[in-house]
Amino acid sequence: MADSTSTCSLVVIILDTNPAWWGRQSNHGNPKLSLSKCVDSLMTFANSHLMMNHLNKIAFIAAHSNFSHFMYPKRQQREVTDIDTNIGEINDGKYELFDRMNNQIKDEIKSLVLKNMEVEFENDSLIAGALSMALCYIHRMEKEKPIGVKMTSRVLVVKASEDNPAQYMNLMNTVFTAQKQNVVIDACILDNDSGLLQQACDITGGVYLKIPQPQGMLQYLLWVYLPDPSTREQLTLPARVQVDYRAACFCHRNLIDIGYVCSVCLSIFCSFSPICSTCQTTFKIIAPPKLTKKKSKKPTT
Ligand SMILES: [Zn+2]
Ligand SMILES: [Zn+2]
Repeated sequence: MADSTSTCSLVVIILDTNPAWWGRQSNHGNPKLSLSKCVDSLMTFANSHLMMNHLNKIAFIAAHSNFSHFMYPKRQQREVTDIDTNIGEINDGKYELFDRMNNQIKDEIKSLVLKNMEVEFENDSLIAGALSMALCYIHRMEKEKPIGVKMTSRVLVVKASEDNPAQYMNLMNTVFTAQKQNVVIDACILDNDSGLLQQACDITGGVYLKIPQPQGMLQYLLWVYLPDPSTREQLTLPARVQVDYRAACFCHRNLIDIGYVCSVCLSIFCSFSPICSTCQTTFKIIAPPKLTKKKSKKPTT
């Protein structure tokens, strides 16, 4: 089968497992979407992706509040799943690979939640860290793929918690790396709109969608995110959103519309300072004081 025209597609799913956000969901009497339902939907999505082509690959990463965790595939399993196809134990007629994958991801999420019960957590998740993990994995799979197989890769970020402008620099660096590696970043937003991911999707040509009804998450996954980017051109997908292109200042990590940019290193600052704190360049032209002097002179003459 692996002739010169074989193509395969690798999808890395990044799930935001921020305990604060999911905890708030389950505290409501009637949660719109629970973590287990969300994982179930993602599992169906992953299985569908693997069914599209026997060479297709999937990976699963959890973005927690203070760390990222690689959940699937684990190192030993990577070799095992490729070799053994005839395992005796059949589980309710389920396809063995799907069954093992689903169970492993569920176990990993369970232990992730239980292990970090006492740890204090933030309101945001380490999306930038998980993204760079995904890019490293994609890079490795590119190197390990069989000769003659063409691989396309994309990342699907399922995000619920709030943005953290402190991650702006790291996230932008990973996004531009993804763009260089031809990796498309898709974002499936469950709750808070994310300006940072809007930029990430816009730069890499992915789909950014805030799901109107989280109960129907699976439908959106199969409808919008399952087709690969080359097929998407022929589909009528939800219209592109207005991208929030604000940048975070390097001094306070606030998102700003208008700021000062260092002409040497392109650092962004929200207020004027005569010395760039990043590259230590001293600016000779001090514009603001001159302007105020001129204004004060005018009324006297
Ligand atoms: Zn600032
Ligand atoms: Zn500078």
